[in-house]
Amino acid sequence: MKPVSIYKPVTVEQAIQILSLHGTEAGVYAGGTDLLIRLKNRLKQAPTYLVDIKKIENLRYIREDGQGGVQIGALTKLAEVADSPLSCYRNGGFICYGAIGDNSYYHSAMGGRLCYAVYPGDIATALIPYDAKVTLATPFGPKALTVEQLVPGDVMVDGRLQSHVVRFNEILTEVTIPAPRPGFKASFEKIRPREVWDFAMASLAIGLQMQGNTIQDARVVFGGIAGKPYREHAVENFLKGKTVSPQLTAQAQAMALANSAPLKYNAEKIDMAKGLLASGLEKLAMA
Ligand SMILES: Cc1cc2nc3c(=O)[nH]c(=O)nc-3n(C[C@H](O)[C@H](O)[C@H](O)COP(=O)(O)OP(=O)(O)OC[C@H]3O[C@@H](n4cnc5c(N)ncnc54)[C@H](O)[C@@H]3O)c2cc1C
Repeated sequence: MKPVSIYKPVTVEQAIQILSLHGTEAGVYAGGTDLLIRLKNRLKQAPTYLVDIKKIENLRYIREDGQGGVQIGALTKLAEVADSPLSCYRNGGFICYGAIGDNSYYHSAMGGRLCYAVYPGDIATALIPYDAKVTLATPFGPKALTVEQLVPGDVMVDGRLQSHVVRFNEILTEVTIPAPRPGFKASFEKIRPREVWDFAMASLAIGLQMQGNTIQDARVVFGGIAGKPYREHAVENFLKGKTVSPQLTAQAQAMALANSAPLKYNAEKIDMAKGLLASGLEKLAMA
């Protein structure tokens, strides 16, 4: 493994000072699930200075935000999020999907999953239908972004190609999931190659704002098929004002990902994504 120096700051401010000092040679170290693999494999982009943020107090919590929403500190473990009645039941259960009994599930933290360098992750995809937001600590004070703004896919940030916009001296501190409005239903489903914790071959997070049987508003977000969670606006607009039915599902499937350009060996991802759309709409129609 490449030799590294580890800092253990106890405040967010100290961590930001250290990150600012070492520039892009430093990296935030949360659960380490991804970072340690990069170091063991001696990858060029692995940091030389690790800024271990686990000693920082007040970054590990799940609490109400006073308006019916939920705030989740960046160091909260996925297992804690899944087990929490607040985040799980308040938000329609989407966040409870996690695979049980796996190491990554117990070690990796919310912040790390959202700051993954090439975007294969599930969490941002799953959070977008909820219009979730994140807070970043920066040298100039806190910065608020929607999760969608956080992960625009393939952007140059501080000379590095990233899927997210977090700068070298910024730390994701909190995720906020606003209170769902009455009539809001959501689901997240993913297809993975093995029956263990694994990256999505395709996934779908779908949210429908219903008024009776009519879809007032929709969020359709595919994961695992692009360099970012891919929001399918054409299908979202098509669904508005309609009632879920087998015909509507077939039309939405036909319309979805119409302009996609699969690579030689992954065209099946498009079929998987369309299958997930049918399954998501059916599931929400029955919910
Ligand atoms: C075998 C395997 C299977 C996986 N399967 C899945 C899967 O099915 N679904 C899925 O979504 N992910 C999956 N992952 C990805 C993995 O779960 C994430 O890499 C991990 O959750 C990141 O969390 P961490 O706390 O361990 O982050 P770390 O490894 O500590 O950090 C990951 C990256 O985020 C940065 N970072 C961490 N915390 C912060 C913060 N608060 N602010 C700013 N930057 C930060 C780090 O600098 C680093 O660049 C898998 C990984 C492996 C190795």
